[in-house]
Order: sequence, then C-alpha cells, then structure tokens
Amino acid sequence: MAKIIREQLIRLLAQGDFISGQYLGQKLGVSRAAISNHIKALTEIGLDIYSVTGKGYKLAQPISLLDEQKIIAHLKTLGENNLIEVHNIIDSTNSYLLRKIPNQIETGQVCIAEYQQQGRGRRGRTWQSPFASHLYLSLYWPLEQGMSDAMGLSLTIALAISDTIKHFSQEQVQLKWPNDIYMQGKKLAGVLIELEGQAQGISHCVIGVGLNINMPATSAKEIDQPWTDLSHHSTKELDRNLLSAYLIAMIMKRLKQHQEFGFSAMLAEWHQLDYFLNQQVKLVTGHKEIIGTYQGVNEQGALILCVDGKEQVLYGGEVSLRGYHESTG
Ligand code: ATP
Repeated sequence: MAKIIREQLIRLLAQGDFISGQYLGQKLGVSRAAISNHIKALTEIGLDIYSVTGKGYKLAQPISLLDEQKIIAHLKTLGENNLIEVHNIIDSTNSYLLRKIPNQIETGQVCIAEYQQQGRGRRGRTWQSPFASHLYLSLYWPLEQGMSDAMGLSLTIALAISDTIKHFSQEQVQLKWPNDIYMQGKKLAGVLIELEGQAQGISHCVIGVGLNINMPATSAKEIDQPWTDLSHHSTKELDRNLLSAYLIAMIMKRLKQHQEFGFSAMLAEWHQLDYFLNQQVKLVTGHKEIIGTYQGVNEQGALILCVDGKEQVLYGGEVSLRGYHESTG
C-alpha cells in the first residue's frame, strides 16, 4: 500500500511544481499527516523534496522518470523486443528476476528500477542505488548447457557496457577482471551475475548492471572507493530511457555472440580495454594476498597471473583484483 502511494506521489511531483499536502491527500485518499510521512520516506531514498508553508511540496529539480513505453520504442529501433518491466522502488532488480525463475520468466526479460532498496555488489556488498539517478537493470538469460555456459560471461557483459558507453561518450572505459568498468581509474559501473541450476542441464542466469549516470552527493559519501558517473564524461544529454535501450540491445548482441562463439571471440577486444594488463597486482582472497604480474585473461575469461616466473590461472570465485599500490579495503 505504502509502495503504491509513494509511486503515485513521485509521479505527481515529477514535473517539479508545488503541490499542496491537502491536494495530494485527497488525490491519494490519505490524510495530510500520512502524506507528510510518505514525503519524509521519499527524501530518505534520495529525492530532494522541500516544503513551503501555504504552497506545499516541490522537487528541487524536476525529474525525468524511466518510461517503459519509451524504452520499448527505442529498443525496437535497435532491433530488439525484450519484455521489459520498469519499477519505481524494488529490493533489487536481480532478486526480482531470480524470484521468477523458472516458470514466470522468458529469455531476455528485463527489470529496471528507479531505486533499489538492497542494491548488491559481489559477496553481499552494497551497490548505492539512489532514486532516478543511475541505471539499475537486470536481464534473464537461460544457459542451455548448464553452468559451464557462464564461462567468461561477466567479461562479455562488461564489453556490452563499453559498447553502450561509446554511444554517449568519447572517452574509453577500462575493464577490470571480472566485473568492473572504470573511467579514468574510477568505478563507473559494475556487473553482478547470479546463477541458478545444475552444473549440467538447463541453468539460469540473471545479469545485473549498475551504471552511474548522475551521482547525488548523499550517495557519493557512502562509496568507499573512487567512483565516477557518465555525466562527468559526456557532453550529450543523458536520456536514461535511451541509455536503457542501448544497454539492453548491446547486452543482447554480446550474449548472442557469446552463445555462438564463446568469450574467445571477444578476447582481443577485452585486451584493448584491460585495466591492469602487464602491471603488478594483488589478488585478494579474505586476508590472503598474492602478488604478481597480471597477464590478462585466457580464452575462457580466466585471469592469468605470473608469480615468481610461474603462471597461475584463476577462474573466478571469492577473489578480488587490486592494483599493487591500492589499499585492500
Ligand atoms: P571486486 O574487485 O571484488 O569486484 P569491488 O570493491 O569493486 O571489488 P563489487 O562487489 O564489484 O566490489 O562492487 C561493490 C563495491 O563498489 C562497494 O563495496 C563500493 O565500494 C562500490 N560501490 C557501491 N556503489 C557504487 C556505485 N554506485 N558506483 C561505484 N561504486 C560503487
């Protein structure tokens, strides 16, 4: 109930005009005091709403909301027609799609949200997901041959994000194995892939992407590593509906390429954008660190590290790649 009222409130305020508490209460069938509580809750998720006695409530800046129909129309021009759901407030776009597996979901189905209450990174880390500021998008993809089909998938999606950004910025991204997208050494986007199913036999994959567009100061304070957003690297107007459509189309293109040829077909492109290539790095697992020279990735997307003249190959799991001088965090 509260969710529905808050979503309606957001829509009413989106244009950026003053609206009185009395009008909002009447329109939504609740008391003025209830409206005041809902407004307070909305400010807590990153909406900058203020009130003036006698005039009512107003958003500091009008916001342009994600619009399912606009995304679908843009996507059609890019040759795709995924099933798309846009939510205002959700726990996490990945969790939402995971709950629909296996029977209530179709290949390529997309969930996008304005705000994630529990946006996630890897291993339970938090992904800052302020309202109407960035893109939080998940897409479902079945793995016909089982989990082994997921080999190199997060690198494939990182390339799809790079493809998308090329349409909106002149600058090139850097990709950090296995799931992070940087610009000028600062984190711009992340990928979270979650798998369900058997080692062999049909399995399921939900691909989540968080791409920063316009970071509000309140969320920036919560991020404990250098970050950036696309508005710092683009002179174009960043229409999140158009960006969503490009991101979906580029993910679909790369997934089809991956399905047909595997990650090896993208290896050369990855090398071009590989952040730490030939640099000294640390591989961090819990409290353990291995220091070596990062030699890029192999045809399966596994990391190659040279330690004391010996090559070690790492397929993923509970491990983080860090620059040699970076703090481990
Ligand atoms: P790893 O190399 O293990 O992937 P990581 O620190 O990049 O390490 P992720 O799980 O990929 O971890 O991402 C979560 C981390 O990203 C958070 O702990 C935080 O430091 C940072 N972060 C959270 N929200 C954002 C955001 N919106 N933009 C950029 N960085 C963020």
